[in-house]
Amino acid sequence: MSHESVWYSRPRQYGKGSRQCRVCSSKSGLIRKYNLDICRQCFRERSAEIGFQKVQRESSEPRQRKDIPVLTEYRF
Ligand SMILES: [Zn+2]
Repeated sequence: MSHESVWYSRPRQYGKGSRQCRVCSSKSGLIRKYNLDICRQCFRERSAEIGFQKVQRESSEPRQRKDIPVLTEYRF
């Protein structure tokens, strides 16, 4: 059993390990909605370019923090 046969041999056909951000190859915080396959960090930078518009909520609930953008605040 050589090192090469074991290294990076875990199955990656499904699950988190099978997907990555198409921009920065990150596997954390991926947005798969609308087949974006972009991590939330890159989406935040590129949402305007892609065509997303940030939607401001009319009613402001005191508990929700406004400085953290949520995906539901974006509309295609
Ligand atoms: Zn990314």
